[in-house]
Amino acid sequence: AAKADGGGQLRFFKPSIAEAAKARMELRAQLRQAVAGSEFVLHYQPIVDMVGGGAVHYEALVRWNRSGGLVYPNDFIAFAESEGLVGAIGRQVLDMAFAQLRAWEEDDEEATLAVNISRNQFLEEGFVPDLVRRAQYHGVAPTRMVLELTESLIISDPAAVRAVMARLIDHGFRIAVDDFGVGYSSLSVLLEYPVHIVKLDKSLVASLGRDLRAQAMVSGFISLFQGIGLEVVAEGVEQPAQHEFLLAAGCDMAQGWLYGKPLPAPFAVTAARSLEQRLFALRLRDKALP
Ligand code: C2E
Ligand code: MG
Ligand code: MG
Ligand code: MG
Repeated sequence: AAKADGGGQLRFFKPSIAEAAKARMELRAQLRQAVAGSEFVLHYQPIVDMVGGGAVHYEALVRWNRSGGLVYPNDFIAFAESEGLVGAIGRQVLDMAFAQLRAWEEDDEEATLAVNISRNQFLEEGFVPDLVRRAQYHGVAPTRMVLELTESLIISDPAAVRAVMARLIDHGFRIAVDDFGVGYSSLSVLLEYPVHIVKLDKSLVASLGRDLRAQAMVSGFISLFQGIGLEVVAEGVEQPAQHEFLLAAGCDMAQGWLYGKPLPAPFAVTAARSLEQRLFALRLRDKALP
């Protein structure tokens, strides 16, 4: 009907802009409400120590527990960032993360926890003292927390980022570069910034077993990164063959649906506890193959 007369396209176009603006306004209002009402929850995904198997690591992943269902971070974090709400959400995430670390400690669970930090949150005035205050309030040692930053965050403001990183490290926090293998994937980011961990993006892991050159690149990355003193985490491990490849390539840690999906803390811990047996079973099964 919009194309029925000459002005139709315009008439069709105008309301859709208005509708988009309205939807944005509604989302903004709902997100403000979510911040005020603390509607966020964390799910925890285990990170497997491929060699030692001793320490337990998790990544905290935020979900918006909106009436009607969970909303995933890819559907609201960028928006929150553009609306100036990501700092407030991030502070709630950090409080939940520290409270969980504290609860694990009281259960004799020697876990470390990785938390994702957005650009505007990281570069917000007062980020470091606020983080330190929250750690102290919950009685958690900063050494238990890894802060995950993307490469795009790091290169967005090199001098400022480097300064904040240095202060975080002084306090004992550790820093991971998230999603390596997408974007620029610049080696100088890993060489010139004080980072401890590099997480290979799931797109690289997905290429294992499918693309021999990508496979050679992944094993090359692993030894290169370890050679400059970094720990390597592979993300998005879904298949036993990917696990076997990474194990053989000497990858330090791995994370993915093969080991466990992100779940509320009690379920994540139960899953992580049964992991060792499952990994053992995996090895037996692979050995049984011709
Ligand atoms: P990320 O930090 O790279 O987190 C890994 C994402 O991959 C998570 O998606 C996780 O559920 C998913 N994943 C894990 N294992 C597998 C697998 O085997 N296969 C596949 N296909 N996916 C897997 P999620 O939870 O939807 O989070 C998406 C992104 O949102 C995160 O990517 C992170 O950049 C961001 N994010 C999550 N939580 C927070 C937060 O608290 N604050 C901020 N600022 N960003 C967050
Ligand atoms: Mg992450
Ligand atoms: Mg990632
Ligand atoms: Mg990501």
